[in-house]
Amino acid sequence: MGTGQKRPNSRRKPLPGKLLFTNWGHKGTRTFWFYNTFPTFHSHCRYIGKPLSSKPLTRPSTPTAAPYFAPALLEWYPRHRRDLPWRHTRDPYAIWLSEVILQQTRVKQGLPYYLDFITTYPTVQDLAAAPEDEVLRHWQGLGYYSRARNMHHTAQQVVGEYGGQFPTTYAELLKLRGVGQYTAAAIASFAFGEKVAVLDGNVYRVLARVFGIASDIAAPSSRKEFQTLADALIPAAAPDEFNQAIMEFGAIQCTPLKPDCLFCPLQHHCFAFQNGLVHELPVKSKAKAARTRYFHYLVLRHGETVYMKKRGAKDIWQGLYDFALTETEAAELPAPSLVAAVEALGGQLATDQAEEPVLALRHVLSHQKVEARFHSLWLQQPLDAGGLAQSGLAAFTAAETHELPKPILIANFLDKTWK
Ligand code: SF4
Repeated sequence: MGTGQKRPNSRRKPLPGKLLFTNWGHKGTRTFWFYNTFPTFHSHCRYIGKPLSSKPLTRPSTPTAAPYFAPALLEWYPRHRRDLPWRHTRDPYAIWLSEVILQQTRVKQGLPYYLDFITTYPTVQDLAAAPEDEVLRHWQGLGYYSRARNMHHTAQQVVGEYGGQFPTTYAELLKLRGVGQYTAAAIASFAFGEKVAVLDGNVYRVLARVFGIASDIAAPSSRKEFQTLADALIPAAAPDEFNQAIMEFGAIQCTPLKPDCLFCPLQHHCFAFQNGLVHELPVKSKAKAARTRYFHYLVLRHGETVYMKKRGAKDIWQGLYDFALTETEAAELPAPSLVAAVEALGGQLATDQAEEPVLALRHVLSHQKVEARFHSLWLQQPLDAGGLAQSGLAAFTAAETHELPKPILIANFLDKTWK
């Protein structure tokens, strides 16, 4: 919550006064309005004989000395964990695949992708040998296609430089392309039992709440603070189990919006719960507002042919296929501009009219919003070889377009128009 501001439309009543939190390991001070977030907790706290304090508890002076933490999670985990295929293996390739996919999406949505990849490419050699287009096609719908390309390159690196065997330590794993600290820690601990703590969004949330850490988790400078804490908490006897447990705990117990505090084994020790700050922690600064881009797709067709092109580097969706594109500053593309754009590609429209209606679709990415309009246009003649070479377009049948790797926006357009 913003500092010193009252939440608009909040039904919760602030406790009297403004509480000052000082020196929580971040520079300066931070001021919160202190909300009685969970009035129902009062009754529960009476039940456990520990009334909720109207004063904030002090943050533990040595949060690393928390002997209760790992045992509580390790006791909770076997009773609550979801049965997922990558939890039944020590194969670093399978673990790596699952982690790359799960960075993109939630478990429920990621599971079919994992099963598809591990079935199509059962070994790292199979993935390395696959054409990039095919890998992108399997990735379609997950977004962040650079991750798929990196994944493909990493597979080739493992085969080419490491003889098809994944490195066995955190430090060596970090040398692989596209393998960051989180993925390296996950593989090192799950596959090889190395004592290195993972830090993902779930772990940040659990640690920030239990230990009352108000550092901005979106700031790169906070990583060291959280990593130091997580490394101090992870037990040498079960680093893999602990990492799985804390991530699972964040995913299904200590969730962002509706944490199950009532039945939480860490409730007694949880700074956020005891201070009514569950919804204020973790602190995460807002991302920059997404910019809006206006795409006008020229879906050029002649007979059974449709023209598409592979997108180049330096923009979104590198290596995926879409149509001839005119980008504008405004939502509308005047008819003369449309005709001129087609002629610039070496085409002549069969009529001056685009096929109506023009289909409009919106696609939201992390940093940009794409407002796309699809103009279905019929050509008098097929595009000649010179025009194709200059524009980068290529001719496909409708059936072939379905096999190409495409942004989900284009796949949705094809589904709506050419089923
Ligand atoms: S008491 Fe609530 S906020 Fe604290 S760790 Fe448990 S679920 Fe998370």
